[in-house]
Parts: sequence; C-alpha cells; structure tokens
Amino acid sequence: MSTKLTFFGGVGEIGGNKILLEHKDTRIFLDFGMSFKQSSKFFSEFLQPRKCAGLTDFFELGLLPDIKGLYRNDYLTHMGRPAEKRSVDAVFLSHAHADHINYLHFLRFDIPIYCTQTSKTILQVLEETGSSNLSDYTTACEAFQFYKNGKGGLSRVTRKNGDFVHERNFIVMTEGQRVKVGDLEVEMVPVDHSLPGSAAYIVYTDQGTLVYTGDIRFHGSKQEQSRKFVQKAKAAKPSWLLCEGTRIDKTEKDSEDAVKQKITKLIAESQGMVFVEYPARDLDRACSVFEAAKANGRKFVVNMKLAYLIASLGDEAPFCLDEVKVFVAKKSWGLIGRPGFDFDVVEKDYDTWERNFIFGANAVTCEDLCRSPGEFVVSMSLWEINQLVDIKPKDAVWIKSSCDPFCDEMELDEERKDNWLAHFGIKKYSTHASGHASGVELREMIAEIKPGQLFPLHTEKPEMFIGCCERVHRVENGKEYKLT
Ligand SMILES: [Zn+2]
Ligand SMILES: [Zn+2]
Repeated sequence: MSTKLTFFGGVGEIGGNKILLEHKDTRIFLDFGMSFKQSSKFFSEFLQPRKCAGLTDFFELGLLPDIKGLYRNDYLTHMGRPAEKRSVDAVFLSHAHADHINYLHFLRFDIPIYCTQTSKTILQVLEETGSSNLSDYTTACEAFQFYKNGKGGLSRVTRKNGDFVHERNFIVMTEGQRVKVGDLEVEMVPVDHSLPGSAAYIVYTDQGTLVYTGDIRFHGSKQEQSRKFVQKAKAAKPSWLLCEGTRIDKTEKDSEDAVKQKITKLIAESQGMVFVEYPARDLDRACSVFEAAKANGRKFVVNMKLAYLIASLGDEAPFCLDEVKVFVAKKSWGLIGRPGFDFDVVEKDYDTWERNFIFGANAVTCEDLCRSPGEFVVSMSLWEINQLVDIKPKDAVWIKSSCDPFCDEMELDEERKDNWLAHFGIKKYSTHASGHASGVELREMIAEIKPGQLFPLHTEKPEMFIGCCERVHRVENGKEYKLT
C-alpha cells in the first residue's frame, strides 16, 4: 500500500493549488483553487467558461482534472455523463483566497470540507456578496433542474426553491485538533498570512508525516502563529514538506508595522482627503489603516463589502463597525442622500446584504466626504473610483498599499487609475508588505523543519529551492509521486 501525491495547479505558478494525497484507501485534497495564470490563457472578464457546458470547458482546457467521483452530479448528468459515487474523502482548505478555494463550486455536495471557522465565514460572505454564478461555496443549488409550477408546466430551479439547495458538509477545525479521515490523521495549525483564518496542515500517516504550509509569512499580526507552526512542524519530523515559494527570489523581509508607520506619517502630512487602496480582505492592512487614521484623529471609512465581512467575523475582526464609518456609494438610480424619498424606495438601489448599512448611524455618502475631507481616511479602489466625481477631492492623497501590477491587464488598470488621479490632481504614494515570507525566511524555515523531501509549489521559481534540503522534487502538473 503506497502513499501518493499528485499536484493539479500551483506548479511553476503562484496559486491554483489542488493537491491530491492518497494513502491506502483514503484520498484527500489540500485546497481546490483556481489558477489565474492558466485561466487567463483562455479567459478574460468578457470571455468566461460557459455555465451551460458544466465542467466541459474546464476539462477541455486543463483547468480542472477529470477525476471520477469528485464533481457534482448535477453538472455531470447535464454533460451527458452518468452520476458518480464519491471517491474523495475530504478537502482541507488552507485559507479562503481564490487561488485556494475558487473551484469548490464544482465539488460534490457530500465531500466534507475542513477549514477554520474564519475561512468558513469568509466563504459565506463571498457567496452572499459576490456577483459570480460559480460561488456555491458553503451552500449549493442544484443546477439545470426543473420543478412543476402552479400552472402544471416546468420552471427552472433557482435558489428560491429550497428543496434544491444543499448545505455543504463543513467541518470547522480548531488549533491543535487532530481529525481522523480514513487512514490519515490531519492537524490544523494556524499561520500568519494576508487573510485571516489561514492554516497549515500536518498529515500523519503510518508511512511518514507530511506538512503543507499553505500561504505563510512571518511579518503580520499573527507572526507568532507562524513561528509556532515551524516548531510544531519540526517536532513532527516530516518526511515530506509541501512549501509555498511566492517570494523565494526575494531577500528583503517585509514589515506590516513599517507600512502602518508610513501610512500614519502620510496622513499626518495631508490636509485634504486621504484615500487608501489595499487588498479587499486583508484585515491586517485594514487594521493598520484604521490605527493610522485614529492616530491622526481621523475616521476610517470602509466600503460595504468590508463592513459586511467585519460584521460577519464579529470578535475575530480586528476592530468593530462602531469604530468606523461605512461608505454608501451611489448605485443603480443613485437615490441615496436625495431628499424626498422614503427608505423603501431608496433601498431598492442596493442588494439585500447591503441594506443594513445604508441608513446606519455610521453611514457616509459622497456628499458627507465632500463636506469634510480632512476628517476621513477612505478605503478606495479602482472599482469605486468613479465616486470621485461626486466626492470632488481637493489636495487629496492616494496611498497605494497593494502589490505592483504583475500582468498586462493590471498594468492597464494601473494606468487607468493614474489618469483618474491626475484628473483630480491627487498625489500618489505607495507602501506595501506582502502576504508571503521572503526567500531568506523560507530557507530559515525549511532548515529548521528539516524535512526529508521538499515539494516546492505556489512559486514561479521552484528551482530556487534546490539546496534547501537534501531532496528537492522537480514538481510536475498531474504527475503521480510515490512517497517513500
Ligand atoms: Zn495563494
Ligand atoms: Zn493566499
């Protein structure tokens, strides 16, 4: 009986992790993410895989592996394939970034999904607030089904038809807890990353121990957790280490504290409005901006998506909603702030999940921001930048606190943003700390853990791991590695 490992994504690229671990009769996946690099070879914002084709487009283009017993039967039968029996025992999620979770949508409803409570909450929020029709993360609605309507004819099933909506089988893991899945035992170990609720896993088998880092860093608010993870992984004496290497080629150690200090200083030097752009769900960064604003006697303004996430996370969030303002941008008919309209007329401009915020005590509109620019530090991104037309910023500052563009599309977006900033005479500054450990830190970590063998993944430069440990595998997509 052997132990086998197969990688479908995350190989020679940053993200898209889908790792199949087979041991005796037990099969589990570590993450089930989307590879942006592979997907963008074929698709763009306006050219998407066809929902009507089920999984066909994904199989054809190699975006998903055609594995029996893994995918939802409603899609398979729609594709003309017979229904299948479950062949995978569990999926373990390291964290809720799209490159690790995006293809959960396609999984059978009965596959148990293990993750942290925070990851589950983020997935629920993504499902409720997202616009994609491929986000059946925590609940799933049977697709391509019909029901008999009142007139005796057939109607298409939607999420309103409760009988067709399934709760996915989520199992929340706590720190240090070991769960038994078939012949495997799996332990969740929390780590520091740019998304709350991130985890590494230690998998115990009777043929050796495997450690999966997920995405990891040592310079955020939870850096102690990452250090504890390294000690735990070391103590487990792993035969195999699956290690992320996003920044294996970088020597400089980032610092979230330094980012906070720089933002604090930039705000102190500004008279007008301060806009800060940062990764959507990076709560470490949001907290840095929150504290920088507070230190300068300004109010931090978050958008409704972040407000909804903070409300959903409750005690897990770094600050509470009462301490910030919520920006209610104009949408649809743009009735917010216009006198003479009743609540129920205005709220039709917004999605259901947004309606709790629009008349809240801490809601602010473009007009509020325009009136008192020196009072606020406003979360802003390219996707809401058209609100500047109503905010009418003067002597404003834009702090870009996110990663630099790394593809042509992002370059174009950056150029577009610069045009907006130039139009309003807004000065741009930047400061950022990555979600990932540097090469120096990764090498220190591997030296400390001392694995027997190393599988580099989630990196464009796997060759830079050579020499980090005695046996470094040259990982290939779809190849089966017998673990010995
Ligand atoms: Zn990732
Ligand atoms: Zn990540």
